[in-house]
Amino acid sequence: MTPHKSPKEALEFLLAHGAVRYAESGHVTHLPCSLVPWKGDPDFVAETEALTPLYSDLYHRVAQDDDFLHTELDKARRADEFIERLFQAKAKESGPKPSLYLNRNDCMPALQEDGTVWPKQVEMNLMASALGEASSVVYRMHRFVGQHTGVGLKQNYAGRGLAQALADGYRAIGGSGIILLLIPVGEVSVFDQRITETRLVEEHGLKTLRASLEELGEEGELRDGDLYFRGHLVSIAYFRTGYAPTHYRSEAAWQARNLIEESSAVSVPSARTQLANTKLIQLVLADKAVLERFVSPSDAERLARSCVAFTKLDSPYTSPDGETMLGREHALAHPDRWVLKPHREGGGNNFFGEDLVRRLKEMDPSESEAYILMEKIGQSVFESVRMVEGEAIPCRCVTELGFYGTAFYPGPQESPTFNRADGYLLRTKDESMDEGLVLGGFSFLDTIELDQ
Ligand code: ADP
Ligand code: MG
Repeated sequence: MTPHKSPKEALEFLLAHGAVRYAESGHVTHLPCSLVPWKGDPDFVAETEALTPLYSDLYHRVAQDDDFLHTELDKARRADEFIERLFQAKAKESGPKPSLYLNRNDCMPALQEDGTVWPKQVEMNLMASALGEASSVVYRMHRFVGQHTGVGLKQNYAGRGLAQALADGYRAIGGSGIILLLIPVGEVSVFDQRITETRLVEEHGLKTLRASLEELGEEGELRDGDLYFRGHLVSIAYFRTGYAPTHYRSEAAWQARNLIEESSAVSVPSARTQLANTKLIQLVLADKAVLERFVSPSDAERLARSCVAFTKLDSPYTSPDGETMLGREHALAHPDRWVLKPHREGGGNNFFGEDLVRRLKEMDPSESEAYILMEKIGQSVFESVRMVEGEAIPCRCVTELGFYGTAFYPGPQESPTFNRADGYLLRTKDESMDEGLVLGGFSFLDTIELDQ
Protein backbone atom coordinates (compact mmCIF):
# COMPACT_ATOMS: atom_id res chain seq x y z
CA MET A 1 0.00 0.00 0.00
CA THR A 2 1.43 3.43 -0.88
CA PRO A 3 1.34 5.87 1.99
CA HIS A 4 -1.00 8.78 1.51
CA LYS A 5 0.77 11.95 0.47
CA SER A 6 -1.27 13.83 3.00
CA PRO A 7 -2.01 12.16 6.31
CA LYS A 8 -5.03 14.45 6.78
CA GLU A 9 -7.58 11.75 6.07
CA ALA A 10 -5.91 9.40 8.55
CA LEU A 11 -5.65 12.19 11.12
CA GLU A 12 -9.31 13.13 10.87
CA PHE A 13 -10.37 9.50 11.17
CA LEU A 14 -8.42 9.09 14.41
CA LEU A 15 -9.83 12.32 15.85
CA ALA A 16 -13.38 11.42 14.79
CA HIS A 17 -13.24 8.01 16.46
CA GLY A 18 -11.26 8.78 19.59
CA ALA A 19 -7.73 7.41 19.04
CA VAL A 20 -6.46 10.42 20.97
CA ARG A 21 -4.41 11.40 24.00
CA TYR A 22 -3.65 14.44 26.07
CA ALA A 23 -0.57 16.33 24.86
CA GLU A 24 1.69 17.96 27.44
CA SER A 25 0.04 21.31 26.77
CA GLY A 26 -3.25 19.78 27.94
CA HIS A 27 -4.67 19.82 24.42
CA VAL A 28 -5.94 16.66 22.81
CA THR A 29 -3.99 15.18 19.90
CA HIS A 30 -4.13 11.91 17.96
CA LEU A 31 -2.22 8.81 19.07
CA PRO A 32 0.85 8.01 16.96
CA CYS A 33 0.01 5.44 14.28
CA SER A 34 1.39 3.98 11.09
CA LEU A 35 0.26 5.20 7.68
CA VAL A 36 1.12 1.86 6.05
CA PRO A 37 0.09 -1.49 7.56
CA TRP A 38 2.71 -4.08 8.49
CA LYS A 39 3.21 -7.06 6.19
CA GLY A 40 3.53 -9.63 8.94
CA ASP A 41 4.73 -13.17 8.55
CA PRO A 42 1.45 -15.20 8.49
CA ASP A 43 2.86 -18.11 10.51
CA PHE A 44 4.11 -15.72 13.18
CA VAL A 45 0.72 -14.01 13.38
CA ALA A 46 -1.24 -17.29 13.51
CA GLU A 47 0.96 -18.78 16.22
CA THR A 48 0.90 -15.61 18.35
CA GLU A 49 -2.89 -15.68 18.19
CA ALA A 50 -3.09 -19.42 18.95
CA LEU A 51 -0.72 -19.12 21.93
CA THR A 52 -2.88 -16.48 23.60
CA PRO A 53 -5.63 -18.72 25.10
CA LEU A 54 -2.92 -21.21 26.09
CA TYR A 55 -1.13 -18.48 28.04
CA SER A 56 -4.37 -17.26 29.65
CA ASP A 57 -5.06 -20.80 30.82
CA LEU A 58 -1.50 -21.31 32.02
CA TYR A 59 -1.50 -18.15 34.11
CA HIS A 60 -4.92 -18.97 35.56
CA ARG A 61 -3.55 -22.28 36.80
CA VAL A 62 -0.37 -20.68 38.12
CA ALA A 63 -2.38 -18.02 39.97
CA GLN A 64 -4.44 -20.73 41.71
CA ASP A 65 -1.35 -22.64 42.87
CA ASP A 66 -0.56 -21.27 46.33
CA ASP A 67 2.39 -23.60 46.90
CA PHE A 68 4.03 -22.50 43.67
CA LEU A 69 3.52 -18.77 44.30
CA HIS A 70 4.78 -19.01 47.86
CA THR A 71 7.83 -21.06 46.92
CA GLU A 72 8.88 -19.02 43.92
CA LEU A 73 8.24 -15.60 45.45
CA ASP A 74 9.38 -16.31 48.99
CA LYS A 75 12.70 -14.46 48.69
CA ALA A 76 11.18 -11.63 46.70
CA ARG A 77 8.47 -10.92 49.26
CA ARG A 78 11.06 -10.58 51.99
CA ALA A 79 13.13 -8.14 49.94
CA ASP A 80 10.31 -6.23 48.26
CA GLU A 81 7.52 -4.58 50.19
CA PHE A 82 5.27 -4.34 47.12
CA ILE A 83 5.25 -8.11 46.66
CA GLU A 84 4.72 -8.57 50.38
CA ARG A 85 1.71 -6.25 50.32
CA LEU A 86 0.20 -8.23 47.45
CA PHE A 87 0.59 -11.41 49.49
CA GLN A 88 -1.10 -9.65 52.40
CA ALA A 89 -3.98 -8.64 50.10
CA LYS A 90 -4.25 -12.21 48.82
CA ALA A 91 -4.47 -13.44 52.43
CA LYS A 92 -7.66 -11.38 52.81
CA GLU A 93 -9.49 -13.53 50.24
CA SER A 94 -12.89 -14.43 51.60
CA GLY A 95 -12.94 -17.78 49.75
CA PRO A 96 -12.75 -19.21 46.23
CA LYS A 97 -14.03 -16.77 43.62
CA PRO A 98 -14.64 -16.79 39.89
CA SER A 99 -11.74 -15.42 37.80
CA LEU A 100 -12.13 -12.97 34.94
CA TYR A 101 -9.16 -12.04 32.76
CA LEU A 102 -8.54 -9.23 30.26
CA ASN A 103 -5.00 -10.10 29.18
CA ARG A 104 -2.60 -9.35 26.39
CA ASN A 105 0.12 -11.71 25.21
CA ASP A 106 2.97 -9.55 23.77
CA CYS A 107 5.32 -11.30 21.34
CA MET A 108 8.02 -10.25 18.90
CA PRO A 109 8.63 -11.77 15.45
CA ALA A 110 11.97 -13.28 16.42
CA LEU A 111 14.40 -14.11 13.67
CA GLN A 112 15.46 -17.77 14.01
CA GLU A 113 18.84 -19.17 13.04
CA ASP A 114 17.30 -20.84 9.96
CA GLY A 115 15.99 -17.46 8.76
CA THR A 116 12.34 -18.11 9.65
CA VAL A 117 10.31 -15.99 12.04
CA TRP A 118 8.62 -17.31 15.20
CA PRO A 119 6.89 -15.64 18.16
CA LYS A 120 9.00 -15.08 21.25
CA GLN A 121 7.07 -13.73 24.18
CA VAL A 122 8.08 -10.38 25.66
CA GLU A 123 5.55 -10.63 28.46
CA MET A 124 2.02 -11.61 29.32
CA ASN A 125 -0.01 -8.68 30.66
CA LEU A 126 -2.69 -9.76 33.11
CA MET A 127 -3.32 -6.28 34.43
CA ALA A 128 -4.51 -3.03 32.85
CA SER A 129 -3.98 -4.22 29.26
CA ALA A 130 -4.60 -0.95 27.49
CA LEU A 131 -5.02 0.45 23.96
CA GLY A 132 -7.56 -2.11 22.74
CA GLU A 133 -10.01 0.56 21.64
CA ALA A 134 -7.32 2.74 20.07
CA SER A 135 -5.93 -0.25 18.16
CA SER A 136 -9.36 -0.99 16.70
CA VAL A 137 -9.69 2.63 15.54
CA VAL A 138 -6.31 2.45 13.80
CA TYR A 139 -7.37 -0.79 12.06
CA ARG A 140 -10.60 0.86 10.91
CA MET A 141 -8.63 3.91 9.74
CA HIS A 142 -6.36 1.73 7.61
CA ARG A 143 -9.36 -0.06 6.17
CA PHE A 144 -11.12 3.22 5.37
CA VAL A 145 -8.10 4.99 3.91
CA GLY A 146 -7.16 1.91 1.86
CA GLN A 147 -10.70 1.04 0.75
CA HIS A 148 -9.87 1.33 -2.97
CA THR A 149 -6.57 -0.53 -2.88
CA GLY A 150 -7.82 -4.09 -2.38
CA VAL A 151 -5.33 -4.65 0.43
CA GLY A 152 -6.54 -7.17 3.04
CA LEU A 153 -6.10 -6.35 6.72
CA LYS A 154 -6.34 -8.58 9.77
CA GLN A 155 -9.57 -7.64 11.49
CA ASN A 156 -9.13 -5.94 14.85
CA TYR A 157 -12.06 -5.32 17.16
CA ALA A 158 -10.01 -5.60 20.34
CA GLY A 159 -11.90 -2.84 22.14
CA ARG A 160 -15.26 -4.41 21.49
CA GLY A 161 -13.89 -7.77 22.70
CA LEU A 162 -12.64 -6.36 26.01
CA ALA A 163 -16.01 -4.76 26.81
CA GLN A 164 -17.73 -7.99 25.74
CA ALA A 165 -15.56 -9.97 28.17
CA LEU A 166 -16.47 -7.65 31.06
CA ALA A 167 -20.15 -7.98 30.15
CA ASP A 168 -19.96 -11.78 29.72
CA GLY A 169 -18.11 -12.09 33.03
CA TYR A 170 -20.72 -9.93 34.72
CA ARG A 171 -23.56 -12.12 33.43
CA ALA A 172 -21.67 -15.31 34.34
CA ILE A 173 -21.36 -14.25 37.99
CA GLY A 174 -25.00 -13.14 38.03
CA GLY A 175 -23.91 -9.54 38.71
CA SER A 176 -26.41 -7.03 39.96
CA GLY A 177 -24.12 -4.12 40.90
CA ILE A 178 -21.73 -1.87 39.00
CA ILE A 179 -18.43 -2.36 37.19
CA LEU A 180 -15.94 -0.12 38.98
CA LEU A 181 -12.99 1.12 36.90
CA LEU A 182 -9.96 1.83 39.06
CA ILE A 183 -7.89 4.51 37.41
CA PRO A 184 -4.64 6.31 38.24
CA VAL A 185 -4.70 9.89 39.47
CA GLY A 186 -3.85 12.11 36.48
CA GLU A 187 -4.49 9.35 33.92
CA VAL A 188 -3.47 10.31 30.36
CA SER A 189 -4.67 7.16 28.63
CA VAL A 190 -8.21 8.14 29.50
CA PHE A 191 -9.91 8.08 26.11
CA ASP A 192 -9.40 4.38 25.54
CA GLN A 193 -11.10 3.71 28.88
CA ARG A 194 -13.90 6.13 28.09
CA ILE A 195 -14.85 4.12 25.02
CA THR A 196 -14.86 0.88 27.05
CA GLU A 197 -17.10 2.47 29.67
CA THR A 198 -19.49 3.79 27.04
CA ARG A 199 -19.77 0.34 25.48
CA LEU A 200 -20.59 -1.20 28.87
CA VAL A 201 -23.41 1.26 29.38
CA GLU A 202 -24.76 1.58 25.82
CA GLU A 203 -24.14 -1.85 24.29
CA HIS A 204 -24.45 -4.04 27.39
CA GLY A 205 -26.89 -2.12 29.58
CA LEU A 206 -24.51 -2.13 32.57
CA LYS A 207 -23.69 0.58 35.09
CA THR A 208 -20.16 1.86 35.74
CA LEU A 209 -18.26 4.22 38.01
CA ARG A 210 -14.65 5.40 38.05
CA ALA A 211 -12.53 5.78 41.16
CA SER A 212 -8.92 6.05 42.21
CA LEU A 213 -7.58 3.45 44.62
CA GLU A 214 -7.50 6.10 47.35
CA GLU A 215 -11.13 6.99 46.82
CA LEU A 216 -12.20 3.37 47.05
CA GLY A 217 -10.00 2.82 50.12
CA GLU A 218 -11.52 5.82 51.89
CA GLU A 219 -15.14 5.43 50.84
CA GLY A 220 -15.54 1.72 50.16
CA GLU A 221 -17.29 -0.45 52.75
CA LEU A 222 -18.11 -4.10 53.29
CA ARG A 223 -21.73 -5.07 53.95
CA ASP A 224 -22.30 -8.78 54.54
CA GLY A 225 -19.23 -9.57 52.47
CA ASP A 226 -20.26 -7.35 49.54
CA LEU A 227 -18.30 -4.28 48.49
CA TYR A 228 -20.14 -0.95 48.31
CA PHE A 229 -18.80 2.29 46.87
CA ARG A 230 -20.81 5.50 47.21
CA GLY A 231 -23.90 3.42 47.87
CA HIS A 232 -23.42 1.11 44.87
CA LEU A 233 -22.78 -2.61 45.06
CA VAL A 234 -19.54 -3.42 43.18
CA SER A 235 -19.79 -6.63 41.12
CA ILE A 236 -16.49 -6.25 39.24
CA ALA A 237 -13.44 -4.15 40.12
CA TYR A 238 -11.52 -3.57 36.89
CA PHE A 239 -7.96 -2.30 37.49
CA ARG A 240 -6.47 0.16 35.04
CA THR A 241 -3.95 1.10 37.72
CA GLY A 242 -2.22 -0.64 40.62
CA TYR A 243 0.61 -2.47 38.84
CA ALA A 244 3.41 -0.21 40.14
CA PRO A 245 4.28 0.80 43.72
CA THR A 246 3.87 4.46 42.74
CA HIS A 247 0.16 3.79 42.19
CA TYR A 248 -0.26 3.21 45.93
CA ARG A 249 0.15 6.74 47.19
CA SER A 250 -1.17 6.09 50.66
CA GLU A 251 -2.42 3.36 52.96
CA ALA A 252 -5.90 4.02 51.60
CA ALA A 253 -4.84 2.55 48.25
CA TRP A 254 -3.82 -0.72 49.94
CA GLN A 255 -7.02 -0.61 51.93
CA ALA A 256 -8.87 -0.60 48.56
CA ARG A 257 -6.91 -3.64 47.42
CA ASN A 258 -7.68 -5.50 50.65
CA LEU A 259 -11.37 -4.59 50.57
CA ILE A 260 -11.76 -6.00 47.08
CA GLU A 261 -10.06 -9.27 48.02
CA GLU A 262 -12.16 -9.60 51.16
CA SER A 263 -15.42 -8.93 49.35
CA SER A 264 -17.51 -10.84 46.82
CA ALA A 265 -16.43 -8.44 44.03
CA VAL A 266 -14.54 -10.10 41.17
CA SER A 267 -11.17 -8.43 40.81
CA VAL A 268 -9.68 -8.04 37.31
CA PRO A 269 -7.03 -9.04 38.19
CA SER A 270 -6.95 -10.53 41.70
CA ALA A 271 -3.90 -10.10 43.93
CA ARG A 272 -2.93 -13.74 43.28
CA THR A 273 -3.08 -13.13 39.53
CA GLN A 274 -0.89 -10.06 39.89
CA LEU A 275 1.64 -12.12 41.83
CA ALA A 276 1.62 -14.72 39.04
CA ASN A 277 2.29 -11.89 36.59
CA THR A 278 5.71 -10.94 37.99
CA LYS A 279 8.76 -11.30 35.77
CA LEU A 280 10.20 -13.70 38.33
CA ILE A 281 7.37 -16.13 37.63
CA GLN A 282 7.80 -15.57 33.87
CA LEU A 283 11.44 -16.60 34.33
CA VAL A 284 10.51 -19.79 36.16
CA LEU A 285 7.85 -20.69 33.58
CA ALA A 286 10.27 -20.48 30.65
CA ASP A 287 11.10 -24.13 31.19
CA LYS A 288 9.23 -27.07 29.69
CA ALA A 289 9.51 -29.17 32.87
CA VAL A 290 7.93 -26.40 34.96
CA LEU A 291 5.23 -25.81 32.33
CA GLU A 292 4.30 -29.49 32.52
CA ARG A 293 3.23 -28.97 36.12
CA PHE A 294 0.37 -26.84 34.76
CA VAL A 295 -0.45 -27.93 31.19
CA SER A 296 -0.27 -31.00 28.92
CA PRO A 297 3.17 -32.04 27.59
CA SER A 298 2.23 -30.94 24.05
CA ASP A 299 1.05 -27.51 25.24
CA ALA A 300 4.16 -27.23 27.42
CA GLU A 301 6.33 -27.85 24.39
CA ARG A 302 4.47 -25.26 22.33
CA LEU A 303 4.64 -22.64 25.09
CA ALA A 304 8.31 -23.36 25.76
CA ARG A 305 9.07 -22.73 22.09
CA SER A 306 7.81 -19.16 22.53
CA CYS A 307 10.15 -18.46 25.47
CA VAL A 308 13.63 -16.97 25.30
CA ALA A 309 16.35 -17.57 27.89
CA PHE A 310 16.13 -16.01 31.34
CA THR A 311 18.52 -15.96 34.25
CA LYS A 312 18.81 -14.42 37.67
CA LEU A 313 21.84 -12.19 38.18
CA ASP A 314 23.52 -14.49 40.70
CA SER A 315 22.54 -17.85 39.18
CA PRO A 316 24.86 -19.88 36.96
CA TYR A 317 23.68 -19.85 33.37
CA THR A 318 25.00 -21.93 30.47
CA SER A 319 24.77 -20.16 27.12
CA PRO A 320 23.93 -22.06 23.90
CA ASP A 321 27.68 -22.03 23.07
CA GLY A 322 28.35 -23.93 26.30
CA GLU A 323 29.80 -21.19 28.47
CA THR A 324 28.75 -21.34 32.14
CA MET A 325 28.96 -18.12 34.19
CA LEU A 326 26.75 -16.17 36.56
CA GLY A 327 23.92 -14.35 34.80
CA ARG A 328 25.45 -10.94 35.56
CA GLU A 329 28.78 -12.03 34.03
CA HIS A 330 27.06 -13.09 30.81
CA ALA A 331 25.27 -9.76 30.65
CA LEU A 332 28.48 -7.79 31.25
CA ALA A 333 30.31 -9.82 28.60
CA HIS A 334 27.49 -9.50 26.02
CA PRO A 335 25.28 -6.54 26.99
CA ASP A 336 23.58 -6.50 23.60
CA ARG A 337 22.25 -10.02 24.11
CA TRP A 338 20.35 -9.22 27.31
CA VAL A 339 17.68 -6.98 28.83
CA LEU A 340 17.83 -6.17 32.56
CA LYS A 341 14.34 -5.99 34.07
CA PRO A 342 12.87 -5.30 37.50
CA HIS A 343 11.44 -8.57 38.83
CA ARG A 344 7.92 -7.30 39.18
CA GLU A 345 5.47 -6.07 36.55
CA GLY A 346 6.84 -3.03 34.87
CA GLY A 347 6.09 0.26 33.29
CA GLY A 348 9.18 0.94 31.18
CA ASN A 349 11.98 0.38 33.70
CA ASN A 350 14.22 -1.92 31.68
CA PHE A 351 17.92 -1.47 30.95
CA PHE A 352 19.61 -2.16 27.61
CA GLY A 353 23.20 -2.01 26.26
CA GLU A 354 25.42 0.57 27.98
CA ASP A 355 22.74 1.45 30.53
CA LEU A 356 22.54 -2.21 31.49
CA VAL A 357 26.31 -2.31 32.05
CA ARG A 358 26.24 0.89 34.11
CA ARG A 359 23.31 -0.32 36.21
CA LEU A 360 24.92 -3.71 36.85
CA LYS A 361 28.22 -2.13 37.86
CA GLU A 362 26.71 0.36 40.30
CA MET A 363 24.26 -2.15 41.76
CA ASP A 364 24.43 -2.93 45.45
CA PRO A 365 24.61 -6.74 45.93
CA SER A 366 21.42 -6.57 48.00
CA GLU A 367 19.60 -5.28 44.90
CA SER A 368 20.41 -8.21 42.63
CA GLU A 369 17.34 -10.13 43.72
CA ALA A 370 15.18 -7.26 42.47
CA TYR A 371 16.18 -7.84 38.83
CA ILE A 372 16.18 -10.58 36.24
CA LEU A 373 17.95 -10.93 32.90
CA MET A 374 16.02 -11.78 29.74
CA GLU A 375 17.61 -12.70 26.43
CA LYS A 376 17.15 -9.86 23.95
CA ILE A 377 14.89 -10.79 21.06
CA GLY A 378 16.36 -10.03 17.62
CA GLN A 379 14.17 -9.29 14.62
CA SER A 380 14.40 -8.02 11.03
CA VAL A 381 14.10 -4.30 10.44
CA PHE A 382 11.44 -3.07 7.98
CA GLU A 383 10.36 0.25 6.48
CA SER A 384 7.26 2.06 7.68
CA VAL A 385 5.79 5.55 7.90
CA ARG A 386 4.54 6.83 11.21
CA MET A 387 2.27 9.78 11.84
CA VAL A 388 3.05 11.91 14.88
CA GLU A 389 1.30 15.26 15.52
CA GLY A 390 -0.21 15.03 12.02
CA GLU A 391 3.15 14.66 10.32
CA ALA A 392 4.28 11.67 8.25
CA ILE A 393 7.74 10.40 9.24
CA PRO A 394 9.41 7.54 7.32
CA CYS A 395 11.27 5.17 9.61
CA ARG A 396 13.09 1.87 9.89
CA CYS A 397 11.24 -0.20 12.41
CA VAL A 398 10.75 -3.29 14.53
CA THR A 399 7.48 -4.42 16.05
CA GLU A 400 5.64 -6.21 18.86
CA LEU A 401 2.30 -8.00 18.47
CA GLY A 402 -0.03 -8.74 21.37
CA PHE A 403 -3.36 -10.51 21.04
CA TYR A 404 -5.89 -9.68 23.72
CA GLY A 405 -6.94 -12.79 25.60
CA THR A 406 -10.14 -12.82 27.61
CA ALA A 407 -11.23 -15.70 29.82
CA PHE A 408 -13.67 -16.57 32.59
CA TYR A 409 -13.40 -19.43 35.11
CA PRO A 410 -16.39 -20.03 37.44
CA GLY A 411 -14.08 -21.47 40.13
CA PRO A 412 -10.37 -22.06 40.77
CA GLN A 413 -10.33 -25.64 39.43
CA GLU A 414 -13.14 -25.40 36.86
CA SER A 415 -12.89 -25.24 33.08
CA PRO A 416 -13.28 -21.85 31.45
CA THR A 417 -16.72 -20.68 30.33
CA PHE A 418 -14.86 -18.76 27.62
CA ASN A 419 -11.22 -18.35 26.73
CA ARG A 420 -10.62 -16.46 23.50
CA ALA A 421 -8.16 -14.32 21.59
CA ASP A 422 -9.97 -11.31 20.22
CA GLY A 423 -8.15 -8.47 18.50
CA TYR A 424 -4.61 -7.22 18.85
CA LEU A 425 -2.21 -4.42 19.64
CA LEU A 426 0.51 -4.10 17.03
CA ARG A 427 3.07 -1.68 18.40
CA THR A 428 5.74 -0.71 15.91
CA LYS A 429 8.72 1.40 16.91
CA ASP A 430 11.76 3.04 15.45
CA GLU A 431 14.62 0.53 15.42
CA SER A 432 16.70 2.91 17.56
CA MET A 433 14.23 2.63 20.44
CA ASP A 434 14.77 -0.03 23.08
CA GLU A 435 11.45 0.45 24.82
CA GLY A 436 8.35 1.61 23.05
CA LEU A 437 5.74 3.57 24.93
CA VAL A 438 3.04 4.66 22.46
CA LEU A 439 2.30 7.75 24.49
CA GLY A 440 5.92 8.86 24.04
CA GLY A 441 5.49 9.10 20.24
CA PHE A 442 8.31 6.78 19.14
CA SER A 443 6.29 3.65 19.15
CA PHE A 444 3.02 3.73 17.24
CA LEU A 445 -0.15 1.76 16.65
CA ASP A 446 -0.14 -0.38 13.57
CA THR A 447 -2.26 -2.93 11.65
CA ILE A 448 -1.46 -6.32 10.12
CA GLU A 449 -1.70 -6.61 6.34
CA LEU A 450 -2.67 -10.08 5.16
CA ASP A 451 -1.33 -11.83 2.10
CA GLN A 452 -3.85 -11.77 -0.71
P1 ADP B 1 6.71 -3.44 30.73
O1 ADP B 1 6.13 -4.25 31.85
O2 ADP B 1 7.38 -2.18 31.11
O3 ADP B 1 5.74 -3.29 29.56
P2 ADP B 1 8.18 -5.20 28.96
O4 ADP B 1 8.75 -6.49 29.42
O5 ADP B 1 6.98 -5.28 28.09
O6 ADP B 1 7.92 -4.32 30.25
O7 ADP B 1 9.29 -4.36 28.22
C1 ADP B 1 9.04 -3.07 27.69
C2 ADP B 1 9.56 -2.99 26.26
O8 ADP B 1 10.95 -3.28 26.20
C3 ADP B 1 8.91 -4.00 25.32
O9 ADP B 1 7.69 -3.51 24.81
C4 ADP B 1 9.98 -4.15 24.23
O10 ADP B 1 9.90 -3.07 23.32
C5 ADP B 1 11.26 -4.03 25.04
N1 ADP B 1 11.72 -5.38 25.44
C6 ADP B 1 11.41 -6.01 26.59
N2 ADP B 1 11.96 -7.24 26.64
C7 ADP B 1 12.64 -7.41 25.49
C8 ADP B 1 13.43 -8.47 24.95
N3 ADP B 1 13.64 -9.59 25.62
N4 ADP B 1 13.99 -8.26 23.72
C9 ADP B 1 13.80 -7.12 23.05
N5 ADP B 1 13.08 -6.09 23.51
C10 ADP B 1 12.49 -6.21 24.72
MG1 MG C 1 5.07 -4.50 28.08
